[in-house]
Amino acid sequence: KKEMLKVEGLKQYFPIKGGLMGRTINHVKAVDDISFTIYEGETVSIVGESGCGKSTTGRSILRLEEPTDGSVVFNGEELTTLSKREMRKHRKDLQIIFQDPYASINPRQTVADVLDEAMTIQKILPAKQRRKRIIELLETVGLNEYQADRYPHEFSGGQRQRIGIARALSVNPKLIICDEAVSALDVSIQAQVLNLLEELQEQYQLTYLFISHDLGVVRHISDRVIVMYLGKIVEIGDKHSIFENAKHPYTKALLSAIPVPDPTREKKHIVLTGDVPSPIDPPAGCRFHTRCPFAQDICKKETPVLGTYAAMADGHEAACHFVEEIESGTLQAKEFEE
Ligand code: SF4
Ligand code: MG
Repeated sequence: KKEMLKVEGLKQYFPIKGGLMGRTINHVKAVDDISFTIYEGETVSIVGESGCGKSTTGRSILRLEEPTDGSVVFNGEELTTLSKREMRKHRKDLQIIFQDPYASINPRQTVADVLDEAMTIQKILPAKQRRKRIIELLETVGLNEYQADRYPHEFSGGQRQRIGIARALSVNPKLIICDEAVSALDVSIQAQVLNLLEELQEQYQLTYLFISHDLGVVRHISDRVIVMYLGKIVEIGDKHSIFENAKHPYTKALLSAIPVPDPTREKKHIVLTGDVPSPIDPPAGCRFHTRCPFAQDICKKETPVLGTYAAMADGHEAACHFVEEIESGTLQAKEFEE
């Protein structure tokens, strides 16, 4: 398996200014020392509640926000030390699709203009050949040539997301980061766009980093899943390990919140209480301890690291001090007081 993206020790701290002198008085630790690898042709999802750092991770990889620390190796090349100019060249290989493509599409440009501009910037094809390519791209994403000269507002949300996908594809990327790319769409349209992304992956050997808060979507599209909480990875594994054999109490809690497809299968509910604490002063030790029904004293002091335990598949890791005790039932969930 070829490594497409290798993220190591990535940190993204945003300074908080304050006081009379406008000094940096603190930091929002949006992403705090995360590492993972994505292999060619796979779909890896990052899932977690809002504020967990998943979108920031995507933006930091692309250097839309300059990472505070860490390494991002894409296709064998370190991105964090490239000049802005060299980085722009790599944007051809590394595309991002956002939740609302309309926001990033100029309303006065026709669809053809949008695609033409993307190809012009990256010097894809001579001008004369682009029109033909634009029609091909539109057909590839399920639109047609008659729609090429229309304006974005003439399209539905699902169609606009198809235009966004066509724009990303127009520069022949290797990796596409999908940041809540289907979150604004109705469920039936979501499924269509997800199916399209899967077809395109086959056709063009694409690799996806899929960022979503929606576990149903993540279950549909992913090969592997990364669960983030307050800037840290708490669990990582293949889709089945995460959905069928989750070990981290936070992952279990997230999964408790979605309906069970098979009602005959019993499910232990862990109900999440309280809000996600602030990433400015995240809880010491395990960041989940303020909401974890299994938390012990050590959880408040020592930060658990990702590790593999008995009955966990290859590549399945969780960051919790008590994986085995929770699994065997020797550590029982506490009832939280209201
Ligand atoms: Fe809960 Fe402690 Fe495990 Fe954190 S380390 S998830 S607080 S049991
Ligand atoms: Mg987000």
